[in-house]
Amino acid sequence: MPTVDALAKRLESYLEPEKVRRVKRAYFYAEQAHDGQMRRSGEQYITHPLAVANILSQMHMDHQSLMAAMLHDVIEDTAVSKEALAEQFGPGVAELVDGVSKLTHLEFETKKEEQAENFQKMVLAMSKDIRVILVKLADRLHNMRTLGAMPPEKKRRKARETLDIYAPIALRLGINDLRIELENLAFEALYPLRSKRIASAIKKSRGHRKELVAQIQQALTERLRQEDIDVQIFGREKHLFSIYNKMKDQKKTLQEILDVYGFRIITQSVDACYRVLGVVHNFYKPVPNRFKDYIAIPKANGYQSLHTTLIGMNGVPIEIQIRTQEMEDMANQGIAAHWLYKQDDSSHNSPTHARARRWVKGLLEIQERAGNPLEFIENVKIDLFPDEIYVFTPKGKILEMPKGATAVDFAYAVHTDVGNTCVGCLINRQIAPLSQPLESGDTIKIITAPGTQPNPAWLNFVITAKARSNIRHFLKNLKKKDSVELGRKLLNNSLRNFDAELDKLSEPTLKALLQEYNLPSLDDLLEDIGLGNRVAYVVARRLLSEGEAENEAETEKSMTVQGTEGMLVTYAKCCRPIPGDPIVGLISKGKGMVIHVEHCRNIVDKRKDPDRCVHLRWDKHMQGEFVVDLRIEMHNTRGVLASVANAVSQADANIESIEMQERDATISRLNLTVSVHSRQHLARVIRRLHNLKPVSKIERASS
Ligand code: MN
Repeated sequence: MPTVDALAKRLESYLEPEKVRRVKRAYFYAEQAHDGQMRRSGEQYITHPLAVANILSQMHMDHQSLMAAMLHDVIEDTAVSKEALAEQFGPGVAELVDGVSKLTHLEFETKKEEQAENFQKMVLAMSKDIRVILVKLADRLHNMRTLGAMPPEKKRRKARETLDIYAPIALRLGINDLRIELENLAFEALYPLRSKRIASAIKKSRGHRKELVAQIQQALTERLRQEDIDVQIFGREKHLFSIYNKMKDQKKTLQEILDVYGFRIITQSVDACYRVLGVVHNFYKPVPNRFKDYIAIPKANGYQSLHTTLIGMNGVPIEIQIRTQEMEDMANQGIAAHWLYKQDDSSHNSPTHARARRWVKGLLEIQERAGNPLEFIENVKIDLFPDEIYVFTPKGKILEMPKGATAVDFAYAVHTDVGNTCVGCLINRQIAPLSQPLESGDTIKIITAPGTQPNPAWLNFVITAKARSNIRHFLKNLKKKDSVELGRKLLNNSLRNFDAELDKLSEPTLKALLQEYNLPSLDDLLEDIGLGNRVAYVVARRLLSEGEAENEAETEKSMTVQGTEGMLVTYAKCCRPIPGDPIVGLISKGKGMVIHVEHCRNIVDKRKDPDRCVHLRWDKHMQGEFVVDLRIEMHNTRGVLASVANAVSQADANIESIEMQERDATISRLNLTVSVHSRQHLARVIRRLHNLKPVSKIERASS
């Protein structure tokens, strides 16, 4: 049975004693945390994290990854928190464990194949540190190795997930050894009969082939030695899953595939690779169109090799791969070596580090040489430092969004109507602000309410073009609708002064006026009036016959404000009118109407201008909250702010802001902004405040 001491011994070959000691400490911590927990197989739980760490040690991973491997199920399965881990082992290890736990939470349940690739990307996007994925892959590998104890249904699900998600990720990252083992284990679990049949066929053919393989190997070695090229030649067997895929995809029989003899030739340098190629092509006849130069044009995950197929003695097909030792290491371990490159100090001189550095350097060279940097970036770089995030709909569909996208962007991505009527959201089942940036792996549920409208403030935080243009479009339409409505109200109000009404005017009268103004429709006229580009009073007079126009009422009739007029009617910030205040509406060109308190100083000179000022009165059933500024003078006493706040809330009002200025040692001035429903409500607030002893004077602020 593997022990932590055996692991530590092996780690000493590439880690400093201090780091080995920390890995052991993580082991003992995890052992204690999992104490009493068993695996389904009946073993102590700790055997699993230890096995995961063992797998990673074979990849020569750093001590932090190994510690994270030991601790990877601790947050998930025991009472230990991320904070506790950070305290014990540092934030780096805690982050890794947290990252692995998040991946564990992902359940790949949608069976649709087109989702699989997005899911792979999601896993990559969620792992800000590539080591998280390597720990997760090792975790998955050990779980696949010990799948036997699982119930059949779960077995199949894990196997499917491994084939759809984790093996392709290993492939993307170039970690071939691990990928092949994952594929074979999953294949065995999914198709036990097929895999048994192929395995026994391989075993049988191995016996027949033995002699021929040795002959070919011998012949090639001798021929290459004559040319003075130093090589190692290995016979190569295809793995179960790739044979199965070949049968399926290329419609080949098992025998056809097994009849091919595979060899790998490892040599010293790139130059030697091409020389080897020349020699073997001279020795056996190459099959046309089967030669591939992945050295000059590497695969996107960095794989490099020469591939060729030859016809050997007795006409047997021989597949040959030719590569350097470096390329061989890279093909097997891929990005697993990457982390070492990032590490700065101590391990500079280790052979692993040197190899890792070459690997990364190699990737960069590939990028230059491949002539297709986009492909390289897409497959390697972007995956590691993604610009996209991947999130779930409540039904488990995955949506790709740009980094920084919010729930509103998500809502519009789902459907324009969802965006337009969205009022709130749940992120991972928790109520969250609509402006909160989403993260990969989040599940988002949008709450909609019929009849609601997009909020102009959303434009401050949405980042997708779709959301932006939809909100803008909606607001533009809304503005038009609101202007028409306000224009109708203003015109009707003016007409009423002459005892007339828009609906009762004759069609020809209206038509004539529209023609005169060169406007296509009544709505356009009303929009003009609403926007303040035309004066309602003037239009009204033009619409009336001379007799009617003389009939003007003595006192100007006032228009009702209902609070539902929309974007074209706003409340002045200078005097902050509230229901109950006498008010007037000031119309300004292109902007609609701003409501002021009648005696507001800002409008004194415009009050007498009937073209710009409209008499208004509040609707009896005005609802909503209105903001007022109060200035309070008071004596400095302890706890006075608290009693002010208390008095305001006692009067059922809300404090919007509060600011205290000390006048001198004894007197302070307080600028208090509260929201109220009406003048009566405000009076109640003021009364409460007056009752406070330190308060000497209260005044409603106006500009
Ligand atoms: Mn695990």
